[in-house]
Amino acid sequence: SGPRVVVVGGGFGGATAAKYLKRYDPTLDVTLIEAAPTHFTCPFSNTVVVGMNDMSYIERKFDKLTSMYGVKVFTDTVIAIDPATKVVKTAGGKTFEYDRLIVSPGIDFKWNAIEGYDAAAAEIMPHAWKAGPQTMLLKKQLEAMPNGGLVVIAPPGNPFRCPPGPYERASLIASYLKRNKPKSKLLILDAKDAFAKDKLFKEGWEKMYDDIIEWVPAAKNGKVSKVNAKDGTVETDFEKFKPAVANIIPPQSAGQIAISAGLADKSGFCPVDPNTFESTLAKNVHVIGDAAIAGDMPKSGYSASSQAKVCAAAIIALLKGEKPLPLSAINTCYSLVAPDYGISVAAVFQVKDGKIASVPGSGGVSPLGANYQFRKKEADFAAGWYQSICQDSWA
Ligand code: FAD
Repeated sequence: SGPRVVVVGGGFGGATAAKYLKRYDPTLDVTLIEAAPTHFTCPFSNTVVVGMNDMSYIERKFDKLTSMYGVKVFTDTVIAIDPATKVVKTAGGKTFEYDRLIVSPGIDFKWNAIEGYDAAAAEIMPHAWKAGPQTMLLKKQLEAMPNGGLVVIAPPGNPFRCPPGPYERASLIASYLKRNKPKSKLLILDAKDAFAKDKLFKEGWEKMYDDIIEWVPAAKNGKVSKVNAKDGTVETDFEKFKPAVANIIPPQSAGQIAISAGLADKSGFCPVDPNTFESTLAKNVHVIGDAAIAGDMPKSGYSASSQAKVCAAAIIALLKGEKPLPLSAINTCYSLVAPDYGISVAAVFQVKDGKIASVPGSGGVSPLGANYQFRKKEADFAAGWYQSICQDSWA
């Protein structure tokens, strides 16, 4: 058979890359190694948190990658990558040789960057920033909290997975509280002074959740510096809170395997060639998705899938000894401010001065001041976007 490409991680980046490698060149020998038997997507996990959808709505399986495209899929955790011998090793004791490797492990958390917030604390104060049991934990806590309780959401500084995600979550939780526990409050204790689509979010909050959401920026001492999971407290440098539900979203790095394989720099993320996503630290190893440093591209599922297609095409060119095409990539991020109220941002990206940059005038954001029909349509588009990208990645 043809050259061997191994893909680590079956999320938006890895699943799309594996599928498109086989679509572009069916003679390739493509192996996908994913730790979990099924993947729960973070996109639309906020709708699960507030009971709009259940977990099965965000569950993705890998069987079609095999039956329709011929990708070999293994449920196992990659524990070592050796770029010198071009071999990966798994926790299950298997070794896989490759000609080219794609690494798309998503993120991991910088435990104790917020004092007291470690893996054990996350079982009490969920981050829910990887979908699965954490999503369910946050959902159960919201259901159990009293009417009149306080919810705290603590978003991290940049860069992190899904820049508008914490604010979509705040919006949908506020919408849930308004309907079910209207005396409750939601405090966003932010490590930043600005965030993605902030004017649009704030317009929606003023209209719908004025007496529920309060956003405290870093400049007003919003940044959470310490938590005590046992006594349930959350602290900034000047204030201490005891919320009924604390959703702490800590600072992040590339997924652990990218770090232990030496693919990340001091930032915790992985420097790559902007046209091929080949690591600048390891030859024949490509890093895509949240783990990669991708210039202006936000860490989103759509970015990861767009990068996956660019990377798959580049690898096929490189394996044939041809010159890869220059990068052309896209991203659109929809957010729900309420179940029937959507907003979006879109951009096209190319390489400029050695970095991935958004093309001036190529994208845009939803207009401020739009009417109900407009926002409702964007909420419908969000659901349509979700179905089509999942189809594109896993089916
Ligand atoms: P992932 O999709 O996380 O996939 C990584 C996979 O690798 C996982 O399945 C993991 O199990 C596996 N893995 C990790 N390490 C190993 C290992 N050592 N061995 C084997 N397997 C391994 N993006 C959007 O575009 N639109 C949205 O609306 C949106 N909403 C979001 C809402 C929330 C609340 C959050 C948290 C994120 C949202 N995102 C959204 C962002 C999106 O989830 C990520 O950007 C995207 O998942 C990144 O893809 P990835 O392939 O890099 O990582």
